[in-house]
Amino acid sequence: MIIVPVAVQREGLSSYREQGGYAALAAAVERGPAWIVTEIRRAGLRGRGGSGRGAPVADKWARVRRALSPTRYVIANGAESSPVSQKDRHLMAFFPHRVLEGLLLSALAVCAAEVFIYVRGDSAEALESMEAAVAEAREAGLFGPGTAVPVGVTIQAALPGTVSGEETAVIDALEGLEGLPQPKPPHPEETGLRGQPTVVSNVETLAAAAAALRVGVDVFRAVGTPDCPGTALFTVSGAVERPGVYEVAYGTRLDDLLALAGAVPPAEMLAVLPGGLGSGPLRPDELGVPLTYEALAEVGSTLGPAAVVVIGQGEGGLSALLAETVGVLAEGSCGQCRGCQDGHRGLVSALEAGEYGLVRELATVLQYGRGNCAHPTGTARLILRSLQAFHSHF
Ligand code: SF4
Repeated sequence: MIIVPVAVQREGLSSYREQGGYAALAAAVERGPAWIVTEIRRAGLRGRGGSGRGAPVADKWARVRRALSPTRYVIANGAESSPVSQKDRHLMAFFPHRVLEGLLLSALAVCAAEVFIYVRGDSAEALESMEAAVAEAREAGLFGPGTAVPVGVTIQAALPGTVSGEETAVIDALEGLEGLPQPKPPHPEETGLRGQPTVVSNVETLAAAAAALRVGVDVFRAVGTPDCPGTALFTVSGAVERPGVYEVAYGTRLDDLLALAGAVPPAEMLAVLPGGLGSGPLRPDELGVPLTYEALAEVGSTLGPAAVVVIGQGEGGLSALLAETVGVLAEGSCGQCRGCQDGHRGLVSALEAGEYGLVRELATVLQYGRGNCAHPTGTARLILRSLQAFHSHF
């Protein structure tokens, strides 16, 4: 696989270097920032964060690179706030140097002198692993004052909360505030950390950037689809024999990924959430969908944080499960936007009362409401897709 090999133990600096690690950083020092952005654009790299949009990474890096301010920052976002995702902490715990090399490449690309790694706070393994990798790389002279990559690296434990990984919430936390999503615009690429242009990239995105430059654009693009090149990490959980983190090519059929994880047969499935709790559930007859941002959007769902949850027949009725899941999402609302808080409360009550006409109305309002983040959009997507694709259950 392209981003990470199968994990048996933590990959230290020497074993990563044996795999070609940090060669891309050396090449980037030689060739300069413009080369990095060009290669990332040629690779067609897309963001692996939880938004499920897969925005082009080169666009974000280029915007910060073009900024007039001489002070820029890069943040590796490993907050992984989705309750059903594990892939980012797995990556940081087992392959920290892959994240760090991508972060240093991004810093070189946008000429940032200071970068941050924001790690899910309750994952001591990921935090300690990233701290050790930073110390190893600094000691080896791969970055730091007096080296060809004169960048300062700070690691901070992420605040808890379902929306703590939203990019403006990450900036808010790094500024010592409450860690809550902020109104946009301005976007972080214009006015980010300390008011300066900032790249916030998911840790898997950074590891994939390092991989693309390490293996070369042609090899990187040889798997995946033309619009979604390369591979991605998926967390698979629920009614499967082998829950865990899997790396597969974009465009892989969802049922092929489920077979790798030993999912129960379709006849024993109720539904599958392909992109976390805020994704539209798929019926067992829809599992041939390719894992790309566009294909999932076409069927009314999303890739989200690439967290696949298989719901088996034995887990209770869909209406009860929906009420329970919306309850979890309601607790995840940080409460600072009135429409989001009130909308979630109303939905919980309407679902408990089985008033599905009202549920549909409230979810439609939530879908188009203007909050500071996309959390309510995810809740609306879950509900509206459930009512549409599983109407006999309601
Ligand atoms: S939309 Fe909801 S979760 Fe997002 S910032 Fe506003 S209240 Fe918080």
